[in-house]
Amino acid sequence: MQRSQEALQSANIVLVKKLAILGSTGSIGTSTLSICESFPDRYTPIALAAGSNIDVAFAQCQHWLPKVISLATEELAAALKLRLKAAGLSQIEVVHGTVGSVYVATLPEVDFVVSAIVGVAGLEATYAAVCAGKTIGLANKECLVAAGELILAAAKERNIALLPIDSEHNAVHQAMRGGSPQEVKQVWLTASGGPFRNTPLADFEHITPAQALKHPTWVMGQRITIDSATMMNKGFEVIEACRLFHLPPAQVRVTIHPQSTVHSLVEFIDGSILAQISVTDMRLPILYALAYPERVAVEGKVPLTFDLAKLSHLDFSEPDHTRFPCLRLAYEAAAIGGDACIALNAADEVAVAAFLAHQIPFLGIPSTIERVLALTPVRRPASIQDVLQADSDARQRARQVVDTMTHQTTTTTV
Ligand code: NAD
Ligand code: MG
Repeated sequence: MQRSQEALQSANIVLVKKLAILGSTGSIGTSTLSICESFPDRYTPIALAAGSNIDVAFAQCQHWLPKVISLATEELAAALKLRLKAAGLSQIEVVHGTVGSVYVATLPEVDFVVSAIVGVAGLEATYAAVCAGKTIGLANKECLVAAGELILAAAKERNIALLPIDSEHNAVHQAMRGGSPQEVKQVWLTASGGPFRNTPLADFEHITPAQALKHPTWVMGQRITIDSATMMNKGFEVIEACRLFHLPPAQVRVTIHPQSTVHSLVEFIDGSILAQISVTDMRLPILYALAYPERVAVEGKVPLTFDLAKLSHLDFSEPDHTRFPCLRLAYEAAAIGGDACIALNAADEVAVAAFLAHQIPFLGIPSTIERVLALTPVRRPASIQDVLQADSDARQRARQVVDTMTHQTTTTTV
């Protein structure tokens, strides 16, 4: 098998990689499909998993004719099945729930799994894909925050690659190719600073969901956009970097870089700093991960070329921890590890949903997380089941905190 692959490569024949896309209807999922559209001779999706957007899921089935698709619930799967039957596409298998996304992620024919379900909903499928020996393009950072220790141990045991799609980690992965791990002094993750980088602190309590959903440089899903506004996204990325690159929190630094042009940097022991610069378009890190260890020419296929002449200046500054307490909370959780990181993610997910539903104010997000962290036992999960249990406990605590906060707000406003 190995020899025939080498023979094909030397004859310049590229094998089409068969992809499973977890979160196919989301921002990363649709960008991945756009790459498949641009490089049909290299990448083809054969298995999809999505949540509840049945219209987009149906359109993706019509376009890509996958072998299998999974939706979040049995009802949604039944509705999709009916639509596919009416369209003469009943050969597409429709499954659902966690079992369904695990099935998609572990399908024997799949060569590469793009993990882009948002939140811990993607955890079991990602872990199963690692255990099945698949190469993974990892966008779902929450998986690494909650279960990074277990996922990385399973990947190491099977000697499989976890290729970061998150743009900062993708940049670090690229820059790391410039030296050995022992030569790395520290990693610098860049952060745009979000929409409230210059907002006076006094105005923070009036920030609305509509304002927080306007990211200055990236277009992304709702959760990550709010996490960018609170800078919790960068906090998660600190933990993600510690895990992916085996670094202690003190060696993962954050720098505010409003242009989002330098996607991250690696500082080596000899004083050299290697930065990765490119357009702000997630198709670039997705293509890098899909093609690794090769690089694929994009000219004439995808508009990812960076115009250096338009680059006038690059700014870098220290993050303000009073303005963005979520960043401090993430460093604290990173230092403790285990359940603290699980609770950080779970409490944030509950608090962000409550903020988007106008139940708590913007500043209620960090205060919910801080209270949940204070109630979380210091513990290390030994299995994915332990992770899911700690996640569920933290969510319950977070909902109680949110309920108290909502109650206080309504009683003080009547
Ligand atoms: P999104 O909200 O646009 O998409 C999420 C996807 O997950 C959708 O396909 C949705 O249907 C699916 N999903 C949600 N719940 C599900 C469930 N229970 N079962 C199965 N599928 C479910 O989010 P996104 O912006 O594409 O982000 C996806 C992941 O990638 C997140 O973890 C995010 O942090 C990470 N990420 C995103 C970006 C970006 O630019 N969008 C950048 C870096 C990292
Ligand atoms: Mg990122």
